[in-house]
Amino acid sequence: MNKSWLRILTYVIMLYMLLAFAWWAMLLFTKNRDAFLAKAEVYKMGMVAQGLIRSDEEFHNTAVYRDLAAAYRRQEWMILGEGLVFLVTLSAGIWFINVSYHREIKANEQRRNFLLSITHELKSPIASIQLVLETLMKRELPREKELDFLKAAFEENERLQGLVENLLFSARLENAYQPDFEELDLAQLVASVIDRVKVRYRNVALDFTAQEDLPLVMADRSGLTSVLFNLLENAIKYGGEHPVVKVRLNAHGDEQVVIEVADRGPGIPESERKNIFQKFYRIGSEETRRTKGTGLGLFIVDQVVRAHGGNINVQPNQPTGTIFRITLPVDHKVLSVH
Ligand code: ATP
Ligand code: MG
Repeated sequence: MNKSWLRILTYVIMLYMLLAFAWWAMLLFTKNRDAFLAKAEVYKMGMVAQGLIRSDEEFHNTAVYRDLAAAYRRQEWMILGEGLVFLVTLSAGIWFINVSYHREIKANEQRRNFLLSITHELKSPIASIQLVLETLMKRELPREKELDFLKAAFEENERLQGLVENLLFSARLENAYQPDFEELDLAQLVASVIDRVKVRYRNVALDFTAQEDLPLVMADRSGLTSVLFNLLENAIKYGGEHPVVKVRLNAHGDEQVVIEVADRGPGIPESERKNIFQKFYRIGSEETRRTKGTGLGLFIVDQVVRAHGGNINVQPNQPTGTIFRITLPVDHKVLSVH
């Protein structure tokens, strides 16, 4: 049975349960009323036989009838009250099951997509490295050719390393990531990440400017390294044919620093800007799909920045491209008290 049929069947069963419940409630009301009327009739006939009353009106004024009527009303309220409690519980149960069911389906889909992309992402560099190693083992090659092969293998290995780092980091995020705060010189950290990126992506124009006398920042070194690396990698991957990336570091007042990573790629459509931070999310356009990735990068970036008490926003660059702007508190502990 496929998914949509299963969903329709679930809704039909839920509807049936609600209708059956309404029908039982109606039945209880009528049975209660019938029982009341039958009891009243028996009492009335008894009183008529004893000559205590002569008409219905007289019977309605007796204490016996009033007691019977009061008990009947009480029972009606009881049925109504219990029915409502039951209905609320039932609806809450149905709603809860429905929400969990959809969440589970979505999580399953994400997991499947993730597994597919991760398998591909892991397999292709491993296969390339394997090929290089095999070639080098089998054949004597001129040194230059050999270096080309080694460079290719090195790049693939770097890619694997980045992927494994992201995977490990997202696993950490799932187990309540706690930043390991220390005083950091952000300008130094950015410069070292840029150096690492330059090794991996050789012909990219990477420009870095940092304001002088930036305050030291209380931050988690491995977390921020991952943030910077992912943003720079994205700016290059999605930065068009000849990526031009600008990184700027500035203080914002005494208590915040701002990191900007700007590229000149095709940009991110307004409607996608809130989605890109979701786990495993990748924009479905051909242009970006041609690149490799798992959709973990910006999820990690967002989570780490939040854990530092900062925020990140995405803006279009001029004339084209994207600017990711991170604002971080200089001292996380001081700011989080306010
Ligand atoms: P990974 O980072 O795990 O290798 P990824 O780059 O696809 O994979 P994210 O870094 O989370 O995943 O980015 C999510 C999506 O946002 C990307 O697939 C891409 O479509 C879009 N995106 C991210 N950065 C940019 C950018 N600078 N310009 C244009 N699109 C971008
Ligand atoms: Mg990425």
